[in-house]
Amino acid sequence: MPTRWREAFDAVVDVVLPPSCAACDVVLPGPGAFCEDCAQEVLELPTVHCARCAEPGAFEGGVCGRCRLGVSWARAFAPFEHEGALAKAIHRFKYEDRSDLSRSLGLLLASAAKGELAQMPGALVPLPLHEARFRERKFDQAALLARTVATYAGRPLELGWLTRVRHTPRQVGLSEAQREVNVAGAFVASAAVQGQDVVLIDDVLTSGATAREAARVLREAGAARVFVLTLARAHNELHGDGAEQRARPRDR
Ligand SMILES: [Zn+2]
Ligand SMILES: [Zn+2]
Repeated sequence: MPTRWREAFDAVVDVVLPPSCAACDVVLPGPGAFCEDCAQEVLELPTVHCARCAEPGAFEGGVCGRCRLGVSWARAFAPFEHEGALAKAIHRFKYEDRSDLSRSLGLLLASAAKGELAQMPGALVPLPLHEARFRERKFDQAALLARTVATYAGRPLELGWLTRVRHTPRQVGLSEAQREVNVAGAFVASAAVQGQDVVLIDDVLTSGATAREAARVLREAGAARVFVLTLARAHNELHGDGAEQRARPRDR
C-alpha cells in the first residue's frame, strides 16, 4: 500500500480503535506508543556507546574490545535500552500474541532512529525466524517491524534476501561462544544482495551473535555494507533475549 494510503488507513483505524499503550493497554489521548507513566520507564540508549555495536560505555577510540576484534557489520544501533515498559511491550509483542503492537513499536523505531536510518543506506531486511518458530508464533516479529519502518521511512523492504535454513535453539541462557556455535550456518543469503547495502531489522540486539552471523552471510554473498537496527539494546549477556526473565515492570 502506498504510504499516503497507509497513513489514511491508519488514521481511520485510530478513530475506530483508539491507540493504546503498548505496555499496559491504557487508551491514549493521541497517537503514540506509551502512556505517560510507562513512557517514563522507556530509557534511551546512553549517548556514549560503542560506535560499531551501540554497547553503552566509553571505549578507547570509541569502539569496544569485541568490535575491535572484528565485526561483520558496518554499524549496529538501537535507540532504546531493553528495560522497563519497552521490554514489557516487546515481550507482549513476541510472546503474548500481540502482533498488533508491530505498528506502534515499528513507528516508534522509525521515529526514534530517524537520524540513524538516514545514515544507514540500503534495503531493510528483517532478521528471519525459522519456519518452525514462525508456525508456533504465527508471525515473524522482525518482519512486521521492518514492514512498518519501511512504510513510514519510505524504504525498500526485501523479504527474500535472507532466509533462515536451520532451526536453532533459543539463545537464552547460552554463553556468547555457545551462541555463535548455535547460529552458525543458520542463514542463507540471496544472490540479489550482491553490491547492495542492507539494513538488518530486529526487535532486540543482545549479544549480537545472530545478527553477526546474518551479516557475515550477507557479506559473503556480496553485500556491500550491512547495518543493524533494532528497537532495543540489551547489554547484559545473562539477560538472554531478555524480557522472559524480566517481564515485570520496574519500580517507579
Ligand atoms: Zn502504559
Ligand atoms: Zn562494539
